[in-house]
Amino acid sequence: MNAYIITRDNLRTWIDALIRDYTLVAPVREEEKVSLFKPVGSFTEIDLNYTNSTISPKGWLFPQTEEMFFFFTSDNQINLEDACKPGTTILFGLRPCDVKGIIALDPVFNGTYQDCYYQMRRQNTILVCLCCTRVERHCFCNSMGGGPTNGEGADLLLTEMEDGYGIEVLTSRGEELVNKYHQLFAVDGDNRVSKTRDEMGKKLASQFSRKVDISGIKEFLDQHFELPYWNELAQRCLGCGICTFICPTCHCFDIFDQSPDGESGVRSRCWDSCMFSHFTRMAGGHNPRPTKKERIRNRFLHKLKYHRDRYNLDGCVGCGRCINKCPVNIDIRQIIADLQEVARYDQLPLS
Ligand code: SF4
Ligand code: SF4
Repeated sequence: MNAYIITRDNLRTWIDALIRDYTLVAPVREEEKVSLFKPVGSFTEIDLNYTNSTISPKGWLFPQTEEMFFFFTSDNQINLEDACKPGTTILFGLRPCDVKGIIALDPVFNGTYQDCYYQMRRQNTILVCLCCTRVERHCFCNSMGGGPTNGEGADLLLTEMEDGYGIEVLTSRGEELVNKYHQLFAVDGDNRVSKTRDEMGKKLASQFSRKVDISGIKEFLDQHFELPYWNELAQRCLGCGICTFICPTCHCFDIFDQSPDGESGVRSRCWDSCMFSHFTRMAGGHNPRPTKKERIRNRFLHKLKYHRDRYNLDGCVGCGRCINKCPVNIDIRQIIADLQEVARYDQLPLS
């Protein structure tokens, strides 16, 4: 793996060059407390000092509302025209948990059922990860197989250093992004970058406010679908869906057509939420998840069991957003701890 060092001045030059040559989507602070990813027009708009964005960057691969295709009739024929024509985009400054979130989304849209819209964006997107330098009180990525300096899945991994940034090349696409502007980078001949990243990783490991033990949870849930615990949790949940919209791995969507004249129009999709009562309601009125109990159970089984069943990946990356934003303080870390306790109390085997 090649590694380079770039000075702060050269980083600015590099980013401005990337903005000129690509669409660069980076973390921006919009209001005092809201940070999100959006296309930027200059280095000065970017906030590289953010901890974790309020809204996850998944929307750049799976937009909140996305036009899929246009349709129109002519000569008694129905014609379709693609709506999605993405150019190359660089998602710059992603935190490691959000890279892991994209890796968790990949098999959903790129597995047995191929989703051309996600694939087109994904193939045209380069992921530049930025190691964390602080841990928020809701973060628990280290309990979910990740870590604040683990850039697995990215094309390039940046680490802040005293005299600039270290850049580790993880893929050939990442290498191209460095080679194209090679005059801005110095080769890291004595492994300073990986040493700095390791030290940062060790320092941050002690800053997590809570570590949870997910061992055996999936196997416990395999055996115990009906638990009174889900009723207790459902009594607190408001069914607002905030947790699903800000989650980097949630991916429910709805599809709808708009056609003012009945002859032409557009088919679109938009994020939906399994926490909404109508999400699973069928045309005849039957709803297989009629109460909040079934819905909240589904959400947490999805995070802790179903995603693993289907893709051998956790459905939660420990970003902590849902913990931070849930209006009634439902905390997935506490749910994991409670499930461990339920298993112990009932003397039910964890595996
Ligand atoms: S379930 Fe919560 S903590 Fe886990 S990835 Fe989603 S938003 Fe982050
Ligand atoms: S954010 Fe909290 S209250 Fe709202 S649906 Fe999610 S768990 Fe329920």
